[in-house]
This record gives sequence, structure tokens and C-alpha cells, in this order.
Amino acid sequence: MNDTTERTPLLIAGCGVSGRAAARLAARLDRPFALLDEQDTPSLREFASSLPKRPDALYFGFRAGAPLPRFDLTVLSPGFRAGNPVRKQLEAVSGRLASELEFALEACGKPFVGITGTNGKTTTTELTAELFRAAGVRACACGNNGYAMSDAAIDCLDGKLDLPVVEISSFQLEIMPVPHPAAAAVLNLASDHIDRHGSMEAYAAAKFKLLGDPAAVQVLNASIPDRLRLAPPGKRLYTFSAALPADFAVADGALAFRGRAVVPADKLALKGVHNLENALASLALLAAVRGEDAVFLPAVADALAKFESGPHRLERFLTANGVQYINDSKATNPHAVNAALEAVGGERRVVILLGGLDKAMDFSELDPELHRLKHAVVFGSCGPAIAEYLKSRAIPFTPCGTFPDAVKTAVSLAAPGDTVLLSPATASMDMFRDYRDRGDQFKALCGKFAATANSMEQTAK
Ligand code: ADP
Repeated sequence: MNDTTERTPLLIAGCGVSGRAAARLAARLDRPFALLDEQDTPSLREFASSLPKRPDALYFGFRAGAPLPRFDLTVLSPGFRAGNPVRKQLEAVSGRLASELEFALEACGKPFVGITGTNGKTTTTELTAELFRAAGVRACACGNNGYAMSDAAIDCLDGKLDLPVVEISSFQLEIMPVPHPAAAAVLNLASDHIDRHGSMEAYAAAKFKLLGDPAAVQVLNASIPDRLRLAPPGKRLYTFSAALPADFAVADGALAFRGRAVVPADKLALKGVHNLENALASLALLAAVRGEDAVFLPAVADALAKFESGPHRLERFLTANGVQYINDSKATNPHAVNAALEAVGGERRVVILLGGLDKAMDFSELDPELHRLKHAVVFGSCGPAIAEYLKSRAIPFTPCGTFPDAVKTAVSLAAPGDTVLLSPATASMDMFRDYRDRGDQFKALCGKFAATANSMEQTAK
């Protein structure tokens, strides 16, 4: 009898970045498959004919209601939102719907490490992969960094990769069955995306699905309260925290495992207490998969010390007229803003830019770090809600109608010794393409306005 998976009709619906990666994986698996997309462009057709195995059928330029056969499995792009008529039709003709991530994790045939949390996923995923590589494991960060899980699965199948380290969001977890990581971490849980999940408990439940397999080693921030730890006990548990007692903690100024120092905290290129927690979580994942001795390898301490997070995360890009400028555009919730304010430090020395797209967030989470603020410049569609909040806390603020105005105002309010910080607490899509666009525009505008301020100062002298 033939292997049934080989005969299973598979449809890849949506040929964007992740759909194309899924198609490459289907071809690598030598499975019969079809491609569907609402567009029909020369580039799509070129892509289809470039695959090492030709698709059995192309449904390009597809419109809801056009004939479709039955498929056992449809890999569905997140672009087909709930209620989309094509999606409804796909639900009707598919035995099962899966995300690209789910399809690729099933196919990769290697253990993997999963990382979720409100903040720090990308930083910790990259750092964890780096630590594994330092410990001699062929590991790679994937999922949300341009290296799709399907491409990582192909590299696993080709014998080029042994351990995918996968960043997984609550949205991805919500729609997939319980995954089977060798080890997985929930980095932290704070108010975000509550508009979409409905409640903190529902958001926590989505995150904790990553720890739903009792065979996985669990890595948990010690600060997550028991009522939100919504997973069965795992094979083993490592806790981490920069503030509370934990397996991986800060002891005598060093990152330490059960009291034994790994690396002095001030040797790290990463800044801020939040990044110490990211580093501790990475060490815990290393211990979980590679063994506890791996944590103490000199190459691991070296990799930990050298690692820097990517752009748009506490990025110090300019000092002009004694003012420090920081781009933290990736801070899309109050929890991340608190981390930035804590890392910058000082009392009333920060001019912050806050605002953007509302996700029904609780801005009172900013309370503990408000004492750092000299002034807030408020912009974007949830500007009024933030203004209301700042007013109730007696923090001086200036609302601005446009982003260039907001940056110009912030630059003009900063005196030597102050910091101008874009750490907006919200999503960017009301005014920008994405957080990168927001951060890039911020950097360009700061450069322009700080230079003008500088030349005015020189003229005045
Ligand atoms: P994610 O992928 O979860 O969005 P990133 O590593 O890209 O996480 O960081 C997003 C934002 O959160 C940045 O502003 C960063 O400074 C901040 N951040 C990173 N790690 C943490 C953490 N552990 N706790 C709070 N904020 C964090």
C-alpha cells in the first residue's frame, strides 16, 4: 500500500512569504500539492514554475464560489481573515486547516525550542539560538525574522540544521493544536492584544498552549502568577527572574544558575533589567535541551556578553547638544515602555513620544515608571486616551496632530542631560507601514530637528 501522506491532497492557500515557504517545503517533501491565491501575477506564476516539484494545480486569481475539489489539508495564510468568503469556502472543502508554522513543525522531524511572551520574543529567540551555537548545536532562530519555519524544516530535512528556535505569538498558538517542543519558555505576561483575545485569561491560555505537552521542559518567568500558569506540569520546570528567587537569577551582580555565576551582568552588551531576564530565559532553555553543564561553557558566556538586540529596540542612535536619542519603536505595549524607562533611568529626564493604534490596553500599567518623565508628546489615534491618562497622573504632555510635529516638539523640549525616547506603547499601523517605518522616520526626523537646533544654538553663540 502507498504511504497515505504521499497521496494526501494538500492545498497551500495564500502565496505570500509564508505560503511560498510552505510550497517549497511541500515540494521538498515530494507531496502532491496545489497553490491558491486571489492574485494572478507573473511573479506568482514564475514562483510556481521555479519550484523543484511542479504543483498539481494552480488556482490563481481565485474568486469565492469558483469550483474547488476537496483537500485533506489546507495550509492557510493568516491573510484570509475570519469571515473572508474564500476562507469560508476553504473551510468547507478542507479536511483540516493548518497554519504554515503548524505544517512546518510537523514536517521538520527534529526537536525544536519554542519561545512566547508579551515582550522579548525576538531578542530571546535570537539570543537562545546564539547560545546553542556557542555550545556546539546547529541551531537557528526562525519564525518571525524572515527565515520561515518551512525553510528551517527544509534545512532540517537536508541535514543542515538540528535545532530550530522558534518565536511563536499568541495569535499563532491560538489557532494551532498543542505543539510538541523539547523545551519552551513563556517570557512574561502583560496587557497586550486584549482587544483580540477578550481577556487576560484568554491571552494567557493562548500563550500557555506552548507548554501544553507534558513531555516539554518548561521555562517560566517566576513573576507569572499561578492563576495564569494555564498548562499541565511539564517534564521539568526552570524558573527565571532578575528580581525574585528563581533557578536562573541575578546573584552578586552575575547571571547565575542556582547561585553559581555564569557571567557578570555588567559584561553584557544588552542593557536593562528586562534584557537580563531575556538572557536568563535563554540560559534556561540551553540547560533544558543541552544539559545544565552547557550553561557554564566559556563560549556561552562569551556569546552572552557580545549579543546585541536588533534595531528599534532601545536603539541609542544619536547624541546631540547633550541630549540622548533612543528609538524603541518596537515597544508596542506599556510593559515594554516600562522596560525602556527603567533602562534609561533618572528622574524627570525623559521626553517620551507616546501614541499610535489602540489595542484596548491598560495604560495605568505605566504608573511605576512615570517618575522618569519630564514631558510626554502624544500622537496617533489613541492619543486622546493616553492624554486622558497622563492628565489623571499630573504628567505634563503636549498633543500633536502629525508625527513630524511630535518629534519636533520632543526635540525642542529636551535639555542637555535629557533623553528623547520613542517608546510609543501602541501598534503603528494607524500612521505607518509598521514599527520599522515608524522607527526609521523617527531617526530621520530627530537627525533633522536636532541638527537645526544645533545650528540655531551655534548662531546664537
Ligand atoms: P517581541 O518579539 O516580543 O515583540 P522584542 O525582543 O522585539 O520582543 O522587543 C520588543 C520590545 O519589548 C522592545 O521595546 C524591547 O526593548 C522590549 N523588551 C524586550 N524584552 C523585554 C522583556 N523581557 N520585558 C519587557 N520588555 C522587553
